[in-house]
Amino acid sequence: MNTTAHTDPSMVVAEMTDPYVENQEFPGIIYPTSVTATLAAFRRSFPDAARLVPEEDDGAAALSVHSRDYVDFVKEGAKRPEGATKFPLNVIALPELRVSEPRTFEGRHAGYFFDEVTHATPAVCAGALRSAAASRQGARRLAGMAAARPASPPLMLVPSRPPGHHALPAVGGGLCLFANAAIAARELSRGGRVAVLDIDQDHGNGTQAVFYDDPSVLTVSIHAEGWPHVAGFAEETGGPGAPHGNLNLPLPTGSGFAAYEPALETALEAIRRFDPAYLVLALGYDAQWEQGFGALRLESEDFAVLGRRIAGLRLPTLVTTEGCYGYYESTAVAATHFFDAWAEQWR
Ligand SMILES: [Zn+2]
Repeated sequence: MNTTAHTDPSMVVAEMTDPYVENQEFPGIIYPTSVTATLAAFRRSFPDAARLVPEEDDGAAALSVHSRDYVDFVKEGAKRPEGATKFPLNVIALPELRVSEPRTFEGRHAGYFFDEVTHATPAVCAGALRSAAASRQGARRLAGMAAARPASPPLMLVPSRPPGHHALPAVGGGLCLFANAAIAARELSRGGRVAVLDIDQDHGNGTQAVFYDDPSVLTVSIHAEGWPHVAGFAEETGGPGAPHGNLNLPLPTGSGFAAYEPALETALEAIRRFDPAYLVLALGYDAQWEQGFGALRLESEDFAVLGRRIAGLRLPTLVTTEGCYGYYESTAVAATHFFDAWAEQWR
Protein backbone atom coordinates (compact mmCIF):
# COMPACT_ATOMS: atom_id res chain seq x y z
CA MET A 1 0.00 0.00 0.00
CA ASN A 2 1.28 3.48 -0.81
CA THR A 3 1.53 5.99 1.97
CA THR A 4 2.43 9.58 1.36
CA ALA A 5 2.90 10.68 4.96
CA HIS A 6 3.30 9.41 8.49
CA THR A 7 2.96 5.68 9.04
CA ASP A 8 4.07 5.56 12.66
CA PRO A 9 2.13 3.36 15.08
CA SER A 10 0.99 6.36 17.12
CA MET A 11 -1.02 7.62 14.11
CA VAL A 12 -4.53 8.45 15.27
CA VAL A 13 -6.09 10.45 12.44
CA ALA A 14 -5.79 9.65 8.74
CA GLU A 15 -7.56 9.91 5.42
CA MET A 16 -7.58 7.25 2.70
CA THR A 17 -8.16 9.35 -0.41
CA ASP A 18 -8.10 8.09 -3.98
CA PRO A 19 -6.89 10.98 -6.18
CA TYR A 20 -9.40 10.03 -8.90
CA VAL A 21 -12.28 10.19 -6.42
CA GLU A 22 -11.00 13.52 -5.11
CA ASN A 23 -10.58 15.17 -8.51
CA GLN A 24 -12.99 13.58 -11.00
CA GLU A 25 -15.96 15.69 -12.09
CA PHE A 26 -18.77 13.17 -12.49
CA PRO A 27 -21.45 13.92 -15.05
CA GLY A 28 -25.02 14.19 -13.83
CA ILE A 29 -26.07 14.80 -10.26
CA ILE A 30 -23.30 13.16 -8.26
CA TYR A 31 -21.91 16.35 -6.78
CA PRO A 32 -18.23 16.66 -5.94
CA THR A 33 -19.09 18.85 -2.97
CA SER A 34 -19.47 16.07 -0.41
CA VAL A 35 -15.86 15.04 -1.03
CA THR A 36 -14.25 18.43 -1.67
CA ALA A 37 -15.94 20.20 1.25
CA THR A 38 -15.32 17.26 3.58
CA LEU A 39 -11.64 17.04 2.68
CA ALA A 40 -11.11 20.80 3.07
CA ALA A 41 -12.76 20.82 6.50
CA PHE A 42 -11.08 17.62 7.68
CA ARG A 43 -7.61 18.82 6.65
CA ARG A 44 -8.15 22.12 8.47
CA SER A 45 -9.45 20.45 11.64
CA PHE A 46 -6.75 17.75 11.63
CA PRO A 47 -3.68 19.35 10.03
CA ASP A 48 -1.41 16.47 11.12
CA ALA A 49 -3.64 13.70 9.74
CA ALA A 50 -1.80 11.11 7.67
CA ARG A 51 -2.68 11.11 3.98
CA LEU A 52 -2.92 7.53 2.73
CA VAL A 53 -3.54 6.57 -0.89
CA PRO A 54 -5.40 3.33 -1.66
CA GLU A 55 -4.44 0.85 -4.35
CA GLU A 56 -6.89 -0.30 -7.01
CA ASP A 57 -8.14 -3.83 -6.33
CA ASP A 58 -10.05 -4.88 -9.48
CA GLY A 59 -13.37 -5.12 -7.59
CA ALA A 60 -12.15 -7.32 -4.72
CA ALA A 61 -13.49 -5.02 -1.96
CA ALA A 62 -16.87 -4.69 -3.71
CA LEU A 63 -17.13 -8.48 -3.83
CA SER A 64 -17.06 -8.63 -0.02
CA VAL A 65 -20.63 -7.25 -0.07
CA HIS A 66 -21.95 -7.46 -3.66
CA SER A 67 -22.75 -10.27 -6.07
CA ARG A 68 -20.13 -11.23 -8.64
CA ASP A 69 -22.33 -10.56 -11.68
CA TYR A 70 -23.15 -7.03 -10.42
CA VAL A 71 -19.48 -6.27 -9.69
CA ASP A 72 -18.53 -7.61 -13.15
CA PHE A 73 -21.19 -5.37 -14.70
CA VAL A 74 -19.72 -2.28 -12.98
CA LYS A 75 -16.20 -3.32 -14.05
CA GLU A 76 -17.46 -3.61 -17.63
CA GLY A 77 -19.10 -0.18 -17.29
CA ALA A 78 -15.80 1.36 -16.22
CA LYS A 79 -14.19 0.15 -19.45
CA ARG A 80 -16.84 1.39 -21.91
CA PRO A 81 -16.11 4.53 -23.94
CA GLU A 82 -17.62 7.68 -22.38
CA GLY A 83 -20.93 8.41 -24.13
CA ALA A 84 -21.40 4.85 -25.45
CA THR A 85 -24.45 4.30 -23.20
CA LYS A 86 -27.48 6.47 -23.85
CA PHE A 87 -29.01 7.72 -20.60
CA PRO A 88 -31.70 7.78 -19.36
CA LEU A 89 -32.73 4.27 -20.26
CA ASN A 90 -36.40 4.71 -19.25
CA VAL A 91 -36.78 1.04 -18.30
CA ILE A 92 -36.43 -0.69 -14.95
CA ALA A 93 -36.40 -4.41 -15.67
CA LEU A 94 -38.80 -5.66 -13.00
CA PRO A 95 -39.13 -9.48 -13.10
CA GLU A 96 -42.67 -9.23 -14.54
CA LEU A 97 -41.33 -7.37 -17.57
CA ARG A 98 -38.58 -9.75 -18.47
CA VAL A 99 -39.30 -12.20 -21.27
CA SER A 100 -35.83 -12.55 -22.75
CA GLU A 101 -32.36 -12.10 -21.33
CA PRO A 102 -31.03 -8.58 -21.99
CA ARG A 103 -28.66 -8.46 -24.98
CA THR A 104 -27.11 -5.01 -24.58
CA PHE A 105 -25.30 -3.08 -21.84
CA GLU A 106 -28.38 -0.86 -21.62
CA GLY A 107 -30.63 -3.88 -21.19
CA ARG A 108 -28.50 -5.27 -18.41
CA HIS A 109 -28.28 -1.81 -16.80
CA ALA A 110 -32.07 -1.80 -16.57
CA GLY A 111 -31.87 -4.85 -14.32
CA TYR A 112 -29.12 -3.56 -12.03
CA PHE A 113 -30.59 -0.26 -10.77
CA PHE A 114 -33.80 0.36 -8.89
CA ASP A 115 -34.30 3.92 -10.15
CA GLU A 116 -33.74 6.04 -13.24
CA VAL A 117 -31.39 8.64 -11.76
CA THR A 118 -28.47 6.24 -11.26
CA HIS A 119 -26.34 6.11 -14.41
CA ALA A 120 -23.42 3.70 -14.58
CA THR A 121 -21.20 5.93 -16.72
CA PRO A 122 -17.54 4.96 -17.09
CA ALA A 123 -16.48 7.68 -14.62
CA VAL A 124 -19.12 6.68 -12.06
CA CYS A 125 -18.18 3.00 -12.35
CA ALA A 126 -14.47 3.80 -11.94
CA GLY A 127 -15.20 6.00 -8.93
CA ALA A 128 -17.34 3.27 -7.38
CA LEU A 129 -14.60 0.65 -7.77
CA ARG A 130 -11.99 2.99 -6.28
CA SER A 131 -14.26 4.12 -3.42
CA ALA A 132 -14.96 0.49 -2.52
CA ALA A 133 -11.25 -0.33 -2.54
CA ALA A 134 -10.47 2.72 -0.39
CA SER A 135 -13.22 1.79 2.08
CA ARG A 136 -11.81 -1.67 2.68
CA GLN A 137 -8.20 -0.50 2.83
CA GLY A 138 -9.21 2.35 5.14
CA ALA A 139 -10.90 -0.17 7.43
CA ARG A 140 -7.77 -2.32 7.52
CA ARG A 141 -5.61 0.66 8.41
CA LEU A 142 -8.09 1.80 11.07
CA ALA A 143 -7.96 -1.65 12.67
CA GLY A 144 -4.15 -1.43 12.68
CA MET A 145 -4.27 2.03 14.24
CA ALA A 146 -6.68 0.83 16.95
CA ALA A 147 -4.46 -2.20 17.69
CA ALA A 148 -1.62 0.18 18.60
CA ARG A 149 -3.86 1.43 21.46
CA PRO A 150 -3.35 5.18 21.02
CA ALA A 151 -4.44 7.56 23.79
CA SER A 152 -7.33 8.81 21.64
CA PRO A 153 -9.46 6.45 19.53
CA PRO A 154 -8.35 6.61 15.87
CA LEU A 155 -10.30 8.33 13.10
CA MET A 156 -10.17 7.41 9.40
CA LEU A 157 -11.86 9.46 6.65
CA VAL A 158 -12.56 7.66 3.36
CA PRO A 159 -13.96 10.18 0.86
CA SER A 160 -16.24 8.15 -1.38
CA ARG A 161 -17.95 9.09 -4.64
CA PRO A 162 -20.33 8.01 -5.96
CA PRO A 163 -21.93 7.59 -2.51
CA GLY A 164 -22.85 4.12 -1.26
CA HIS A 165 -25.56 3.81 1.37
CA HIS A 166 -28.45 3.03 -0.99
CA ALA A 167 -26.63 0.21 -2.84
CA LEU A 168 -28.00 -3.30 -2.20
CA PRO A 169 -25.93 -6.49 -2.62
CA ALA A 170 -27.03 -7.14 -6.23
CA VAL A 171 -28.63 -3.83 -7.22
CA GLY A 172 -27.60 -0.18 -7.11
CA GLY A 173 -29.74 2.96 -6.94
CA GLY A 174 -30.06 6.39 -5.36
CA LEU A 175 -26.83 7.36 -7.18
CA CYS A 176 -25.03 4.59 -5.23
CA LEU A 177 -23.23 1.66 -6.88
CA PHE A 178 -21.25 0.00 -4.09
CA ALA A 179 -22.09 0.11 -0.37
CA ASN A 180 -18.90 1.73 0.91
CA ALA A 181 -19.96 1.94 4.57
CA ALA A 182 -21.01 -1.73 4.49
CA ILE A 183 -17.72 -2.75 2.85
CA ALA A 184 -15.81 -0.97 5.64
CA ALA A 185 -18.08 -2.48 8.32
CA ARG A 186 -17.69 -5.99 6.92
CA GLU A 187 -13.90 -5.66 7.00
CA LEU A 188 -13.88 -4.21 10.54
CA SER A 189 -16.25 -6.94 11.78
CA ARG A 190 -13.38 -9.41 11.38
CA GLY A 191 -11.96 -7.81 14.55
CA GLY A 192 -15.08 -7.20 16.65
CA ARG A 193 -18.62 -5.87 16.64
CA VAL A 194 -19.32 -2.87 14.44
CA ALA A 195 -21.99 -0.18 14.59
CA VAL A 196 -22.91 1.80 11.47
CA LEU A 197 -24.54 5.19 12.07
CA ASP A 198 -26.09 6.83 9.00
CA ILE A 199 -26.85 10.56 9.36
CA ASP A 200 -27.62 11.20 5.69
CA GLN A 201 -31.10 12.67 5.24
CA ASP A 202 -32.24 9.52 3.42
CA HIS A 203 -32.57 6.02 4.78
CA GLY A 204 -29.45 3.86 4.55
CA ASN A 205 -31.41 1.04 2.94
CA GLY A 206 -28.39 -0.60 1.33
CA THR A 207 -26.38 -0.84 4.55
CA GLN A 208 -29.48 -2.14 6.33
CA ALA A 209 -29.97 -4.81 3.65
CA VAL A 210 -26.37 -6.05 3.87
CA PHE A 211 -26.45 -6.63 7.64
CA TYR A 212 -30.15 -7.22 8.29
CA ASP A 213 -29.58 -10.77 9.49
CA ASP A 214 -26.02 -10.31 10.82
CA PRO A 215 -25.71 -9.97 14.62
CA SER A 216 -22.11 -8.72 14.41
CA VAL A 217 -23.09 -5.38 12.85
CA LEU A 218 -25.68 -2.95 14.25
CA THR A 219 -27.10 -0.59 11.62
CA VAL A 220 -28.71 2.70 12.72
CA SER A 221 -30.21 5.30 10.40
CA ILE A 222 -31.68 8.71 11.28
CA HIS A 223 -33.57 10.01 8.24
CA ALA A 224 -36.57 11.89 6.90
CA GLU A 225 -39.65 9.80 6.24
CA GLY A 226 -39.88 9.09 2.54
CA TRP A 227 -37.17 8.01 0.14
CA PRO A 228 -36.81 5.15 -0.86
CA HIS A 229 -40.49 4.76 0.14
CA VAL A 230 -40.32 0.96 0.58
CA ALA A 231 -37.81 0.77 3.45
CA GLY A 232 -36.73 2.83 6.44
CA PHE A 233 -39.65 2.29 8.79
CA ALA A 234 -39.29 1.92 12.55
CA GLU A 235 -40.63 -1.63 12.56
CA GLU A 236 -37.65 -2.87 10.51
CA THR A 237 -35.61 -4.09 13.49
CA GLY A 238 -33.57 -6.92 11.95
CA GLY A 239 -33.91 -10.41 10.53
CA PRO A 240 -34.39 -13.68 12.45
CA GLY A 241 -30.62 -14.03 12.96
CA ALA A 242 -30.31 -10.47 14.33
CA PRO A 243 -33.70 -9.45 15.75
CA HIS A 244 -32.33 -6.18 17.20
CA GLY A 245 -29.66 -5.60 14.58
CA ASN A 246 -31.27 -2.61 12.89
CA LEU A 247 -32.64 0.66 14.26
CA ASN A 248 -34.52 3.10 12.02
CA LEU A 249 -35.33 6.54 13.37
CA PRO A 250 -37.52 8.17 10.69
CA LEU A 251 -38.48 11.81 11.32
CA PRO A 252 -41.32 13.84 9.82
CA THR A 253 -40.38 16.14 6.94
CA GLY A 254 -39.49 19.62 8.15
CA SER A 255 -39.06 18.59 11.77
CA GLY A 256 -35.75 20.40 12.49
CA PHE A 257 -33.15 19.81 15.17
CA ALA A 258 -35.67 19.86 18.03
CA ALA A 259 -36.88 16.47 16.79
CA TYR A 260 -33.50 15.36 15.48
CA GLU A 261 -31.61 15.71 18.76
CA PRO A 262 -33.66 13.15 20.74
CA ALA A 263 -33.36 10.73 17.79
CA LEU A 264 -29.60 11.23 17.85
CA GLU A 265 -29.53 10.46 21.58
CA THR A 266 -31.59 7.30 20.97
CA ALA A 267 -29.15 6.26 18.24
CA LEU A 268 -26.09 6.88 20.43
CA GLU A 269 -27.63 5.06 23.37
CA ALA A 270 -28.35 2.01 21.16
CA ILE A 271 -24.75 2.06 19.94
CA ARG A 272 -23.41 2.29 23.52
CA ARG A 273 -25.60 -0.65 24.54
CA PHE A 274 -24.32 -2.69 21.58
CA ASP A 275 -20.77 -1.97 22.82
CA PRO A 276 -19.04 -2.18 19.42
CA ALA A 277 -15.29 -2.24 18.79
CA TYR A 278 -15.69 0.11 15.81
CA LEU A 279 -18.03 2.76 14.41
CA VAL A 280 -18.65 3.43 10.71
CA LEU A 281 -20.26 6.82 10.11
CA ALA A 282 -22.14 7.41 6.84
CA LEU A 283 -21.84 11.19 6.67
CA GLY A 284 -24.27 13.02 4.40
CA TYR A 285 -25.06 16.72 4.47
CA ASP A 286 -28.48 16.71 2.83
CA ALA A 287 -30.29 17.03 6.17
CA GLN A 288 -29.08 20.61 6.13
CA TRP A 289 -31.86 23.07 5.31
CA GLU A 290 -30.15 24.80 2.37
CA GLN A 291 -29.70 21.58 0.39
CA GLY A 292 -32.22 20.75 -2.30
CA PHE A 293 -33.99 18.04 -0.34
CA GLY A 294 -33.21 19.41 3.14
CA ALA A 295 -36.31 17.84 4.61
CA LEU A 296 -34.86 17.74 8.13
CA ARG A 297 -33.97 21.44 8.14
CA LEU A 298 -30.80 21.20 10.19
CA GLU A 299 -28.72 24.36 10.60
CA SER A 300 -25.00 24.27 9.84
CA GLU A 301 -24.31 24.75 13.55
CA ASP A 302 -26.28 21.59 14.32
CA PHE A 303 -23.45 19.64 12.66
CA ALA A 304 -21.19 20.77 15.52
CA VAL A 305 -23.55 19.02 17.94
CA LEU A 306 -23.49 15.93 15.70
CA GLY A 307 -19.67 15.94 15.59
CA ARG A 308 -19.31 16.43 19.33
CA ARG A 309 -21.85 13.80 20.34
CA ILE A 310 -20.67 11.14 17.89
CA ALA A 311 -17.03 11.73 18.81
CA GLY A 312 -18.18 11.38 22.42
CA LEU A 313 -18.70 7.66 21.77
CA ARG A 314 -14.89 7.48 21.77
CA LEU A 315 -14.82 4.63 19.28
CA PRO A 316 -12.33 3.96 16.49
CA THR A 317 -14.31 5.48 13.61
CA LEU A 318 -14.30 5.28 9.83
CA VAL A 319 -16.22 8.02 7.97
CA THR A 320 -17.63 7.60 4.44
CA THR A 321 -19.20 10.45 2.47
CA GLU A 322 -22.83 10.15 1.32
CA GLY A 323 -25.43 12.58 0.00
CA CYS A 324 -25.08 16.25 -0.69
CA TYR A 325 -26.61 18.42 -3.39
CA GLY A 326 -23.87 20.69 -4.59
CA TYR A 327 -24.13 23.65 -2.24
CA TYR A 328 -20.41 24.05 -1.66
CA GLU A 329 -20.51 26.91 0.83
CA SER A 330 -23.18 25.54 3.13
CA THR A 331 -21.71 22.04 2.93
CA ALA A 332 -18.27 23.44 3.76
CA VAL A 333 -19.67 25.34 6.75
CA ALA A 334 -21.48 22.22 8.02
CA ALA A 335 -18.37 20.06 7.49
CA THR A 336 -16.19 22.59 9.30
CA HIS A 337 -18.57 22.66 12.26
CA PHE A 338 -18.64 18.87 12.29
CA PHE A 339 -14.89 18.17 12.21
CA ASP A 340 -13.90 21.13 14.41
CA ALA A 341 -16.28 19.84 17.08
CA TRP A 342 -14.92 16.31 16.65
CA ALA A 343 -11.31 17.52 17.00
CA GLU A 344 -12.19 19.54 20.08
CA GLN A 345 -13.97 16.59 21.67
CA TRP A 346 -10.94 14.33 21.21
CA ARG A 347 -8.32 16.93 22.16
ZN1 LIG B 1 -29.27 11.48 0.99
